[in-house]
Amino acid sequence: MGCNIVMLGPPGAGKGTQAGPLAGSRNLPRISTGDILREAVQSKTELGRTAEVTIARGELVSDEVVIGMVRERLAREDTQAGFVLDGFPRTITQAEALDVMLADRASLIVLKITVPAEELLRRLSARRVCGQCSAIFGDGVAGSPCAQCGGPLVQRNDDRESVVRERLEVYARDTEPLTNYYRERQTFAEIDGAQPTNIVRRSVEAAVGRLQGAARRPAANVGASE
Ligand code: AMP
Repeated sequence: MGCNIVMLGPPGAGKGTQAGPLAGSRNLPRISTGDILREAVQSKTELGRTAEVTIARGELVSDEVVIGMVRERLAREDTQAGFVLDGFPRTITQAEALDVMLADRASLIVLKITVPAEELLRRLSARRVCGQCSAIFGDGVAGSPCAQCGGPLVQRNDDRESVVRERLEVYARDTEPLTNYYRERQTFAEIDGAQPTNIVRRSVEAAVGRLQGAARRPAANVGASE
């Protein structure tokens, strides 16, 4: 039936940091719409040229474009056993489209990572990422080598403070409403992301373990007679 996971939460909450090991431990693909868009920007495809300015401003790329990207990615065979979505959905329209795409798969496990706003600002301005493999470092020094692949650490353009503020506002306006969209589901869990990374990791694994049973019984939620 597959283990279909969505990581929700504001920028800087640790979605990417947690999605990597979670996907790795279960041998599932991690699908980060931010990474797909940044790759498109780097390779200067048509999609990349359209998305570049939007990303640099901290705004959202259009639902139509992002939904198309995810639909294409989820059609690939390697998602049949499940996936970890990181950074999608970000709007109600995207969430509705995702539900339609997954109508015949196991229910989504939705993990929302919460972190206080002032901590998000602090984390994002300190964050460095590998320009080569996209690994995330909470306090790396720009230019120093990535511990995973040796590539150079850089600050993301959109991690500059003025853009971060815009991203947090966009999150509050467009993405936070997803909490209510998913909250009533039996396969939703909220995780305290202000704890140390390894503790958050344990909470994430425990939540997935707990919710997997409910996710395998989607028919029970839609009026199957017992
Ligand atoms: P992220 O790496 O997830 O923080 O994404 C970086 C940027 O890519 C975001 O600030 C948006 O501009 C864009 N982006 C990523 N995912 C989405 C999405 N699901 N919908 C719209 N824009 C997105």
